[in-house]
Formats: sequence, structure tokens, C-alpha cells
Amino acid sequence: MPLHQDTLVIDAHTDVPTRLWESPADLSQHLTDRHVDLPRLRQGGVSALVFALYVPAELDPQRGWEHAKALHEVSERALIPGQLVQVATADDLQRSARRGEVAVLFGLENGRPLTVTGALDHCARIGVRYVTLTHWASHEWCDASTGKPLHDGLSAEGEGIVRQMNRLGILADVSHVSDAAVLHTLDVATAPVIASHSSARALCDHPRNLPDPLIREIARKGGLVMANSYPGFVDPEASKADAARGKELRPILEETLEEYLRNPGKLWQERERLFQDHPLPKVPLSAYVNHLIHLLEIGGEEHTGIGTDFDGIPDVLEGFEDPSKFPDLTAALLDRGVDRGGVRLILGGNFLRVLREGERRAG
Ligand SMILES: [Zn+2]
Repeated sequence: MPLHQDTLVIDAHTDVPTRLWESPADLSQHLTDRHVDLPRLRQGGVSALVFALYVPAELDPQRGWEHAKALHEVSERALIPGQLVQVATADDLQRSARRGEVAVLFGLENGRPLTVTGALDHCARIGVRYVTLTHWASHEWCDASTGKPLHDGLSAEGEGIVRQMNRLGILADVSHVSDAAVLHTLDVATAPVIASHSSARALCDHPRNLPDPLIREIARKGGLVMANSYPGFVDPEASKADAARGKELRPILEETLEEYLRNPGKLWQERERLFQDHPLPKVPLSAYVNHLIHLLEIGGEEHTGIGTDFDGIPDVLEGFEDPSKFPDLTAALLDRGVDRGGVRLILGGNFLRVLREGERRAG
């Protein structure tokens, strides 16, 4: 497929670092216990992906910060010179793609640790390009979409953190944050705001998805909404099943958090088994494409992108199980009448532009 081959393909959100921390692996090999590895990235024509340094919401800022650094360390060790390489800027990303490498950018998923002195500067130094402001729970300075409202958006400290992020060339990511916090972030940010892995609430009514007015606002201010491929956020039936499963498994999973942090490999396997025993209904790739088309219609083709959440989701779409399937996504978008220019923007052009804009607004 010539269009796909000469297009910059960027996946704005994966949880590769968490998988590596749970169970270190050689990413140059085909791996059967996770979604992402170099052979499948290459097969899918992926030019770049974001490694999210995911900090569990339960960890206090200091412990969370230690955890983020540990994830960064295992991730760096997993890079492969000349093949899977870290980049920090839009220009580096393009150069790396031209050399035929797969480029890795870092994101921090959950900004809770940023109250630790020096943490945000450290993030900038190691090349973190966006911070997802929260995870599942509200914290000291920002409310989560699935948490109790504590600040009606951002606290005063949170406003300062978002502004400082933008000064350092780090984008604010509003996936996971409450609707009020999305608006608040749009208000104080001095660079475009992204949602790195959120789909459309109009098609699947889940708080993790964005309602049309917020999609419009993010777009109006030059930002991006990048659709999440988790079946539980894509399809209403799967979403219901996901909620029931969550309720059933939560007591088991919560009890084991401390044990998980001590013995992540073992607990990961147990968790995977639990999820596999309670699978969600099958959801096809076309349902995901519906979200992308909706985002296009509401936000526009310059404000839509892809954040699969691979390696962070227990279930995957049928026909889009791992990064090797990206050419099928391209084909599906063309089939649905998205023109070639639009497909290029969605697959990676938009994310590159917004990264560059973040760099321009820094300083
Ligand atoms: Zn997430």
C-alpha cells in the first residue's frame, strides 16, 4: 500500500514502559506476551510511538516520581541503536523516520508526581513531550474524569504546573481529566492541548471519552484528539461489559497493588489471566473508524489522530490487535472516504505539527 508506506505513522500513546517494567523483554524479537515489538512496528509501517511513563494514581507524589524514573530507566535500556531510538523534537522525529528507524518519544501519564521539586525540569531534560495530567483518580492539583471533583478543574498550583510545562515545551494531555479540568487547561495553556488517547463520548458514553463541545474547543485552540482503541471506550456494549468486569475484579486488583509494586511480573500474569477469563464482547476495527470519522466531523481533519493505548489495554479490537495492523486502518479510512491528505494528517502529520508548535511556544 504505497500511501501507507510513505506516510509518517505516529501512535501517540502506548504503555510499552509498563510492560517492560513488569517483564523485561528484547523488543527486537517477536513477543507473544504483549502488543508492541519492533517486528510488528515495522510490519505496520509505524514511524514513531510514545512510550507513556504511567504512574498509578494511588502512589503519592514521591513514590510516583520514583516509579516514573524506574519506568524511564527500563525503557531506555530497551531501545535498539539504529532501529528503535529516542527522539525529543519534531525535526529529530522526521530525520529518524527518513533513516528508517522507529522513533520513541516519552510522555508522563499522570502528573501527580510533578509537585516533587525538580520533577518537571527532569522530565524536560529526559525528553518527555507531554504530561497526561491525571490517571483514574483526582489528585493534589487536578480532577480526573473518573474521580471525585476536588478543584472544579485545576487548583491554583495546577494552573502553574500547566503553564510551566508549556514553557518547557511539554504539552498538556487531557485524556483522563474531568470535563471541567479540560476547559480549565484550555484556558491556562499557552500551547495546543492534546488528548493522547480518548475517543468520542457521542458514540460511546464513557467519562474517559470526550463530548463534542470539548472536542470542538480543543480543535479551535489548535490541539488534537487521538482516538483510543480500547473496545470498552469504543463500543457501548463492550463498555457495559467493561464496567461489570471492573466491578467484579476491582476488589482483587486493589488488594494486590502493593504486591504488584513488589512483584510486578507475577501480578501482571495473574491480572492478564483474570481479564482473559472475562473477555469483552468482540468489537471490530470499523467501530474504531467510526470514532475517527466522528472526530473528523466535529474537530476537523487537522485535529484528529491515533493513540492506540497498546500494551495498556487488556482487550483489543478485532482486526486491530497490534501495531502490525496499521495498514488496515489506513485502508479502512480510505474506504470510508477520507482523502489521502486527511489520512496522512490523522496518521501522524497532525501530531508532528502540534509537537513542533509546542516547541515554538516554549521558552
Ligand atoms: Zn491511560
